[in-house]
Formats: sequence, structure tokens, C-alpha cells
Amino acid sequence: MRFIFLGPPGAGKGTQADILATRWQISHISTGDILRNTIKEQTTLGLQAQKHVEVGELVPDTLMMGLIRQRFGQQDTQQSWILDGFPRTIAQAQALDQLLSILHQAHPTVIYFEVPPEVLVERLLARGRLDDTESIIRRRLEIYDLETTPLIDFYRRRRCLKQINGNLSLDEVSKNLRKSLSTSSF
Ligand code: ADP
Repeated sequence: MRFIFLGPPGAGKGTQADILATRWQISHISTGDILRNTIKEQTTLGLQAQKHVEVGELVPDTLMMGLIRQRFGQQDTQQSWILDGFPRTIAQAQALDQLLSILHQAHPTVIYFEVPPEVLVERLLARGRLDDTESIIRRRLEIYDLETTPLIDFYRRRRCLKQINGNLSLDEVSKNLRKSLSTSSF
């Protein structure tokens, strides 16, 4: 069981990934969490990442790939996992393809969480993380449109994309997600 959770900031990917990973006892790989931990450690890498995260920009692909390779070198990512927040650019998606092929892991199913933009701003403001001020949120959404939405077509063409309505209650999304995955034809 391998999944990529794709969608805008505030779509609920992290929450749903947490629920499923616990239920299925598989690894939840959140690049946002990995970055926040790296930043907390204030290593050279952490300081580099911090500059970008603080202002709502993407962390450079090369730095991200270093972190992802490291994570996929660990024991708990050899079989089943949920990737949440990665890939976020076409370059990252291509690098992930290469990495999975080297690791002899079959390509994951991609779940795309669809939520209207006005709902996202509201949700993120309510969450109140340090990078959740209105101007930084708007910048993150802009970058999502520019850099990440092309991934929807990238994976759709590969016929591995499933769309989920993320604009429902947490429980409803959770239920629909499980239903959708159990009827998965991939
Ligand atoms: P959100 O989904 O709300 O944007 P995340 O916790 O997934 O929150 O990510 C927080 C920040 O970490 C992003 O705004 C970005 O700066 C950085 N980040 C996370 N994943 C990636 C990635 N794959 N590539 C580049 N930057 C990333």
C-alpha cells in the first residue's frame, strides 16, 4: 500500500494521512513535519530550509530530495507508506519516480483532495501555525497553483489519480477515502 496525498495547503491531507496510517499501521511521511523537525535542530540544512518555509516559498528541490532519500533509506518505508506534502513540483515527481525505481518499489496511487480556495484560507487561519498568517497563506496558495497543480494532470495521465472531495467534515472525508481505496482498481 503506497499512497501520495496531493492537494493544496489546508486540504486535510495530513489529518487523513494520520488516521489511515494509524489504522493500517503504515508510515506517514509528511515533508512539512520533517522540515519543521530539521528546522528545530538548527542544523545547516535546517537553517537553509527555514528561510523558505518562513515566507511560504518552497524549499529547493535538491534539498527536498536529500531529505526524501534519507527517509526512504529507513526500514519502515520499504513496503507501505503515505507521502503527504511530497512531491510538490514536477521535478520532485520525476526524482521520486527515479528513486522508487532504484528501490524496486511499484508506483503509488495518488489521492487528490479537492477544496475550494476560500475554504482553505479560512481553515489555515484557524489553524494558526507560525507560517499561517494571511499573507504567507496567500503566497503558499499562489505557489501551489503555479508549481503543484501541474501534478494533477501528470498523474491523471498515468491513470493513478483518485479525486476526493475535501470540502466535507473530517469523518465524511475519512469514510469516502476508505471507500474509494477499497474499490481501488489500481
Ligand atoms: P501545508 O500543506 O499547509 O503547506 P506543510 O506542513 O505540508 O503545510 O508544509 C509547510 C511548508 O514546508 C511549505 O509551505 C513549504 O515551505 C515546505 N515544504 C513542505 N513540503 C515541501 C516540498 N515537497 N517541497 C518544497 N517545500 C516543501
